[in-house]
Amino acid sequence: MKHDLPVIVLKGFVLLPNNDLKLDLKINKDVLETSINFNNNNVLVVTDIDKLEETTDISKLPKIGTIAKIKKSLELPNGMTRISLSGIKRAKIIEYINDYDIEAIVEEKEIKKIDSIEEKVLIERINKEIKEFVGYIPYISNSFINDINKIKDLNILTDKIVNYLEIGIDRYFEYLMEDSQIERSKMILDDIYEAKEMYQIEQNLDIKLKKQLDDDQKQFILREKIKLIKEELGEYSYTENDIENLKNRLENLKAPDYIKERILREIKRYSLIPSSSPELSIERNYIECLLELPWGKYTIDNDNLIEVREKLDATHDGLEQVKSRIIEYLGVKQLTNSLNGPILCLVGPPGVGKTTLAFSIAEAMNRKFTKISLGGINDEAEIIGHRRTYLGASPGRIINQIKKAKSANPVFLIDEIDKMTKSYKGDPASVLLEVLDPNQNKYFKDNYIEEEFDLSKVMFIATANYIEDIPEALKDRLEIVKLSGYTEFEKLKIAKNYLLPKICKDHGINYKYVEINDNIILKIIRNYTKEAGVRELERKLATIIRKIITSLAYHRININKVIITNKMINEYLGNPIYEMQKINYNEIGVVNALAYTKFGGDVLPIEVVSFKGTGNITLTGSLGDVMKESAIVALNYIKANYKYFDIDYEKLTNNDIHIHMPDAAINKDGPSAGIALTSALISLFKGQKISKDISFTGEITLTGKVLEIGGLKEKSIGALRCGIKKIYIPKSNKKDIDNLPNEVKENIEFICINDFKELYRGEFK
Ligand code: ADP
Repeated sequence: MKHDLPVIVLKGFVLLPNNDLKLDLKINKDVLETSINFNNNNVLVVTDIDKLEETTDISKLPKIGTIAKIKKSLELPNGMTRISLSGIKRAKIIEYINDYDIEAIVEEKEIKKIDSIEEKVLIERINKEIKEFVGYIPYISNSFINDINKIKDLNILTDKIVNYLEIGIDRYFEYLMEDSQIERSKMILDDIYEAKEMYQIEQNLDIKLKKQLDDDQKQFILREKIKLIKEELGEYSYTENDIENLKNRLENLKAPDYIKERILREIKRYSLIPSSSPELSIERNYIECLLELPWGKYTIDNDNLIEVREKLDATHDGLEQVKSRIIEYLGVKQLTNSLNGPILCLVGPPGVGKTTLAFSIAEAMNRKFTKISLGGINDEAEIIGHRRTYLGASPGRIINQIKKAKSANPVFLIDEIDKMTKSYKGDPASVLLEVLDPNQNKYFKDNYIEEEFDLSKVMFIATANYIEDIPEALKDRLEIVKLSGYTEFEKLKIAKNYLLPKICKDHGINYKYVEINDNIILKIIRNYTKEAGVRELERKLATIIRKIITSLAYHRININKVIITNKMINEYLGNPIYEMQKINYNEIGVVNALAYTKFGGDVLPIEVVSFKGTGNITLTGSLGDVMKESAIVALNYIKANYKYFDIDYEKLTNNDIHIHMPDAAINKDGPSAGIALTSALISLFKGQKISKDISFTGEITLTGKVLEIGGLKEKSIGALRCGIKKIYIPKSNKKDIDNLPNEVKENIEFICINDFKELYRGEFK
C-alpha cells in the first residue's frame, strides 16, 4: 500500500519499529499538523547519516524508514518540540517530496508470518542467550530480562533487543532493512556472540596490560587494545600484513595497467585511513571489489556446434525450431567471430525451459553461466550501481554477477526483460540498452566501480513472458525466439524421458527401478497442475519420489522396484486440485472465449444477461479498457445489423445488458474477444444456445470484419486441454495453423473467417 506521510528526520540514530523514543527536536509545526489532521498521527521517521550538516539534503536520505505514531508532543520555550514516538512498521520510501517540510511517498513493508514452531524455538534461543549475555554485561539491568521474557512475538522481540546491543549506526540500518524476522534473529545471535567475545577479550587484556599501565603510555595502549581486539575477531585492520596481501593480489591481476594503477592508489589511500574511521571498511570493500573482478579472464569456447546441439537434446525434449534457431544463431556468431549481432531473447510462458536452455548453452560452450532477473526493477542503479558517496553503495547487478561468474565472457541470462518499469529513478531499459549494445558495452562503466569494464565478450541471452511488454527500444536489439506451452502428450514425454530420470538421479535412486504408467502421469498433469510449462509437474513428481523414498527408509524396506500407483498419488498429493477442465456451460448467452493468461492459453467463458432497462451496459470480471471497448463495438454492430441477425430492435433498446467474465482473479484484456462477445450477445437476443465445444478468438470491427490475433498456438493448446472441438479464428491467422502441434490439429477443427456474418451463418442459421 503506497501513501504520503510527513517526515521527521533524526540525526545519527535510528528508530526501529516496536520501539519508543522520546526526544527534543526542532520540527516544523506543519509536520505535526499534517500528521494529526491527515495521517492519524502517523509520521515517517528517517535517519540522516550526516550528523554535522544542520539542513537536510533529501537526495542523501535513505530509502528506508520507520512509520511511527506521535504519542505526545509539547512545544518547549526554546523553540524545540518534545516529542514521544512509537515505531510501528518498516517502510520503503518510493520518493521524497519537498526540501523544506519533507514528505515522502512510502510503501509499507509487511512482515511475513513464519512457522509457529520455528518462531518458538528462535524466541527460546534468543532468550537463553540474552540471559547469559546480561550476566556478562554490567550496563544492562535484570529487569530488561523480565520485559523480554514476556514477548511471544519474534518480530517484536528482535526489534526490541537491538536497542540493548552496542552496535554502530550501519548495523542499525541493516536491522531496519531486514524484513525477515528469521534473518534478524540470526543477526541478533551473531551480535550477542560478538559482544560476549569482545567482553571476554577485553577482560583478558585488562589483566595483561594492567601491570604496564602508565599515564604516558595510555594513548598507545588504547590503540594496541583496539588492534588486538580486531585481530582476535578476525576482522581486517590496516595492518602491514593486510596491505602486503592486497599488493600481492594486485601483482597477480591481469587487469589493464590503468586499473592496476588505480588499485594501487586506493591501497595507499586505505593505508592512511585511521582505523577508527568508518571510511576504512568502505575503502576496503572497494579495493576488494576491484581485485575480485575477472579482468582479462576468459574461458575458451567449445566451437563444436554438433556437441552443443547434442547437449540441448540431452537436456530438453522437442523444441525443434527453438534449438535450430539457437544453433543458427551460434553459427552466425562463430562465422563473424563476434557477438556484435542481436541478443537472443527466449520468449514464452513460465516453465517451458527458457532458463535451462540458456544454462545448457553455457555448459555446452564451456562458458560460465550467470543470471539476473529484472522482474519489478524500476531503478537504474540496480543495473549500473550506486555512486560510492551513497550510503551502503555497491556495484550494480551486472558487475556483481560478472564478479561471481569469475570470467569476463560468461553466458549472462537476463531474465524477465519484460517486467521492468520506468520510475523517477530512471529508465532501466535505456541503461540495459547500453549494457547490451556491443558498441558501447566494451566500455561499460558501473557507477560504483568508476572504471570501464569490457562486457563485449559476454554472451547475453534474455527471456520474457510477453513480447508486447518488452520495451520497444530493447526489442530492436533482440532476436526473438518463441517457445510455446506444451500439450499434455508433450508433457507426458518430457516427464518420462527428462523430469523423472533427473529427479531420481537427484534423489539417489535408479530410474530403472521406478515404474509409473502413462495414465498416472497424465492424471498428475490434468488433476494436479495447471500450467503452460512443466515446472509444477516437476515439483509434483519430485514430491512423490521424495515421499516414497522417505517411506521406504522409515520402514527400513529395501526393494528393487518401486511401482507408483493411483493410490499413492492420492495419498502423497492429496485430492485432485483441478478437475478435468471440461467446460460445462451450455446455456443461452454463454460462450467460450480463448485467452492467453499466465498459465498459457486458457478457455474463459463469457456470460451475458439482459433485463428491463434503457439499453445500458454493465461489464464485470476484471476487464481491461480494450475489452470494454470491444463489448461496446459488438453491441453497436448488432444494433446496426439487427435486421440481418433477425433480432427485435426493441429488445436491444428496452433492456440493460450485463456482460460478465467469471474468475475475477484474472485480469482480462486484449483485442481478441470481439467475436466471442458478439456471439454471446446474439445467442442471448435470439435465444439460441451455442455448443460448449465451440470457442472463438478474434477482434471485430464496427463493420463486422474479423482481425488477426496473437498467441494462436497457446490458445489452441489451452482449448485442447479443455475439450474444445471447434475454434473460429480470423482468416489472417490461417498461416499459423501449420505450426500447431499435431495433437491440436487432429482434435480441433479450425474455421477461418473474414467477416462475422460467416460465423453467424455457421452457428445461428
Ligand atoms: P522457464 O525459464 O521457461 O520458466 P525453466 O527453464 O526454469 O523454465 O524450466 C523449468 C523446468 O522444466 C526445468 O527443470 C526444465 O528442465 C524443465 N523443462 C522445460 N522444458 C523442457 C523440455 N522441453 N524438456 C525437458 N525438460 C524441460
